[in-house]
Parts: sequence; structure tokens; C-alpha cells
Amino acid sequence: MTAAMTATLFQRLSAAAAAATHRRFSLDVSSQLLRTRGYVHGRWVSAPSDFPVLDPATGMEIARVSDCGPEDAKRAVDSAYSAFYEWKQYTAKERSLLLRKWFNLMTQHKDNLARLITFECGKPLKESLGEIAYAASFLEWFSEEARRVYGDVVPPPIKDRRILLLKQPVGVTSVITPWNFPSAMITRKVGAALAAGCTAVLKPAEDTPLSALALAELAEQAGIPAGVFNVVPCSREMAASVGRVLCTDPLVAKISFTGSTATGKMLLKMAADTVKRVSMELGGHAPFIVFDSADVDQAVNGAMASKFRNSGQTCVCSNRFLVQSGVYERFVAKLGAAMDAQLRMGHGSEADTTQGPLINARAAEKVGQQIDDAVSQGAKVLRGGRRLHGSFMEPTLLVDVTADMLCVREETFGPLVPVIRFDTEEEALALANASNVGLAGYFYSQDISQIWRVSEALEVGLVGVNEGLISTAEATFGGVKESGMGREGSKYGVDEYLEVKYVCMGGLNV
Ligand code: NAP
Repeated sequence: MTAAMTATLFQRLSAAAAAATHRRFSLDVSSQLLRTRGYVHGRWVSAPSDFPVLDPATGMEIARVSDCGPEDAKRAVDSAYSAFYEWKQYTAKERSLLLRKWFNLMTQHKDNLARLITFECGKPLKESLGEIAYAASFLEWFSEEARRVYGDVVPPPIKDRRILLLKQPVGVTSVITPWNFPSAMITRKVGAALAAGCTAVLKPAEDTPLSALALAELAEQAGIPAGVFNVVPCSREMAASVGRVLCTDPLVAKISFTGSTATGKMLLKMAADTVKRVSMELGGHAPFIVFDSADVDQAVNGAMASKFRNSGQTCVCSNRFLVQSGVYERFVAKLGAAMDAQLRMGHGSEADTTQGPLINARAAEKVGQQIDDAVSQGAKVLRGGRRLHGSFMEPTLLVDVTADMLCVREETFGPLVPVIRFDTEEEALALANASNVGLAGYFYSQDISQIWRVSEALEVGLVGVNEGLISTAEATFGGVKESGMGREGSKYGVDEYLEVKYVCMGGLNV
């Protein structure tokens, strides 16, 4: 399968002349949604220079975006701070209605928004449409949650007192997001923040500023007041100085970050000086366990869904496949066959593509290194294994993998399936929990006692039992260990943007 797949890919991408490729894969999005300047206090602002946004499938420039600097970030923080005093006075119902309008506009413009994702991040269009539905669902969910931020009236221990616990917005929130979900990582945070009555300054990833700016355009159309949501796009060179303002300015009360554990640790250190509230959604290293009791076909379907979405570039992608001896051969054979039948590489805008490129050459190199390391230590390549044109990487199936190989020790963020054989449940749990991070974990079993035991023993924040795709606005999202702190989505998501204030009313004649 891989030879055919590779040949097709080269015909599609390498053989075409650059100009023809450009014509064939042109962004073609409504100009109103193609915003290329920063968005501060309800205005589109230029910067002295700009940076290119590249289509990772072709390497071609699709837009140039204002490279906002620390001064722009400071202006955005000041704007969010002044807007906060107005926004928090809006009734919960007024905030709810504005978030709902924003949701409606996202839904109305879903096709254009999905094309932006496909062109700046490489995701197949079908997945981009899925991301837009998922991203919009957070605005819908938090528009509903905005009206359910209840405090408490607590029975007092002293007769003439009354005790109230009020929930109040924390204030200006700095939001820093990655490229792999250019829309959903924004709405999951900003939806909750705005519902709570906070205002926000967003720094999107260098690779994917267009989706963020399109969201700002729609926020404006929805009537969200100036300063409530600001966007400061910037290049990687500028990220540290912009990040410093967002993480140290005394007017910022809260930092909400999604990205790598290494960056998260840096931001946490910066947050410490002014004791900011933090939510950190960091890296994962998900185990995917198939027990002898599993329905193997179901496990193969789950593996395909949880591994190959966004070409393996999601923080909840399965990263280590642990398969019990009794079903090992069957699982590996069926997974290989499913990869042959279902995976097709190409430009994300083409209807039959399921596997786009990785975000850049560095990402493809990392996967290549993990494969080389595993092979040098005795692993066998059953499918794929090669890096192709640009940042395309063949979906790869490795067997005879052992725990000391790089691909088992590090997050891959690419289309690599390393399979480890195990004999006992204890062994599987020890392997699964031998990680300094713990975001998602999946396992397949038809044994109800085993399902309870393993669900409770896995050291992760999200567990998929006989299910490979589990993210939804209604449930919590967040990790344990170095996968971060805090929970997004669900009824708990809005708490991340609220303080609890105790009010004691004393001396009452009651
Ligand atoms: P990253 O390098 O940490 O980048 C994430 C964001 O942080 C980008 O906007 C980046 O800007 C910015 N950034 C980098 N250095 C900064 C600094 N010094 N100050 C302020 N901002 C800075 O992560 P990534 O490689 O793009 O994303 C992949 C990682 O994210 C993976 O580890 C994945 O597991 C994790 N992730 C986690 C979740 C979750 O919910 N837990 C979801 C998705 C992804 P530039 O783009 O300009 O570098």
C-alpha cells in the first residue's frame, strides 16, 4: 500500500510546477474572513513588519500577517483591562446571548473557517469541518453555562450572621494557543472566560493566525464589545517578548495556555512573580491498551480514529500501543489492513485525503528519528517508515517495540504506531503509567471488572473505554502530572475563570 500511496503523493505534489500547484491549492476564502492584521480594542492594527503563513502541504505562502510586538500586546492588555469593568457588568443573559450569536456566525461560516484550518495547518477538510463544529460547540456550551454561575448561601455557625459565597470573574486573561487545533483551542478557553465575565488577549501560534483572526472578525460581527477579545498574532521570533507581556503584566489576572510541556513550564515560572491564576493544557503520551478480552475489530477502529486524526498531531492521540499476547498477531494484522484501506495522503483540500502533512519539516524529522531509533534497537517496520515530500510522513506501523525506545519515551506528534507486546494487566498498567505526563489513555476490554480496575488505575485525566474519540464540550478536558493543571469544557470549565468571594453579613437582627 505504501508504494502506491507514495507514488500518488509525488504525482500530486512534486511533479506539479509551483505555479500550477498554487492554482490548484489556492485558499479561496471570503475576503471578509481573511483578516491579516492584529485585533486590539475592536480595531484591526498593523505592525511595522509581517510574517508569512505557509500551507504546510505545499510550502507556499498563503498570507502575510502583522507581526505584533510587545507594545501591541501591552495595548491589548490595557484594552482588555478597561473593557473588563464594562463586560463584567453585563448580565449573564446578555453575555450568553452574545456568545450564542458568535456560535451562530461560526456555524454559518463553517466552510470558510474549515478551509482556513486546512490551508494553514494541513488538516483534511473533513477534519477541519469537524474542528469547526467542535470549536463552535464550546461557544454554544459556555453561552449556556454563563447563566448557571451560581454562588452559595451557607448556614452560618453564629446566629446574627449570614454567609454568602459569590463567584466573580478573575479579570484579564492571557490566552496562548497551539497550531494543531487553530480554532477549538481558542473557543474552549475564550468561551469560558467571556461567559465568566473575563476579557481576553489571545496570542495564536505563528503557524495558524488566520483562524484566530477570523474568529475575531466573527466576534465583532456578533457584537462582542471592543476590548473584550483581542488578538495579537506574532512570529516565532516575537513570541517570547509578546509572551513576557502576557505572562508578567500586573493587569493580567490569569494565563490559559495550551501547548508543549516545555513552554508551559516557562510560562508558569513567569506567572509566579505576580501570582497569576493558570490553566495549563500540556503535552500527552497516551497509552492505547488492547486486552485479550477486547473486541479486536472495535479496537482497530478505535486505534485508527485515535492515532491518525490530524496525522497523529493531537495531544490526545494514542502514542504507545500495548497489546496483550493473546490478540497481538490478530490486532497487528487487522490494523495494518485498515491502514492500507483507509489512509490516503495528500493536500487536505482534496476530497479523498485522510492524511495531510505534518506541520513542518522539524515535526517530520522528529518522527523519522523515532523510527530510526526503534529500528536500530530491533523494531520491525510493517507499514510505511519513510519521510516523503516536504513534511509528509508515511503512516507507520512498528512491531517488536520495547519500552526503552525513544518512541515509547517521548510524545511523537505524528502518524507512528509503535506496538509493544505484554502478558499481564499489571505489566500493561506499569508500562502505561511509566510516564511523567498523563493526559489521555485508552483501553479495550469486554471484562467489566477489568474495565473498572484499569479506568481507576490509569494515571491520566481522560479515559476512553472501548472508544477512541472522546473529546466533547460536555465533558472535562485536562491532564495529570506534567500534562498540566485545570480542566476545560464541562460544567467545571467556567470555574477556571472565577474567584470565590466570601461575604459575611454580621450584626443582623434576625
Ligand atoms: P508550543 O511550542 O509550546 O507552542 C504553543 C504556543 O506557545 C504557540 O502559540 C507558541 O508560539 C507559544 N510559545 C512558544 N514559546 C513561547 C514563549 N516563550 N512565550 C509565549 N508563548 C510561547 O507547542 P506546539 O509544539 O505548538 O504544540 C504541540 C504541543 O501542544 C504538544 O506537546 C501537544 O501535546 C500540546 N497540546 C496540548 C493540548 C492539550 O489540551 N493538553 C492540546 C493541543 C496540543 P509560536 O507558535 O510562535 O511558537
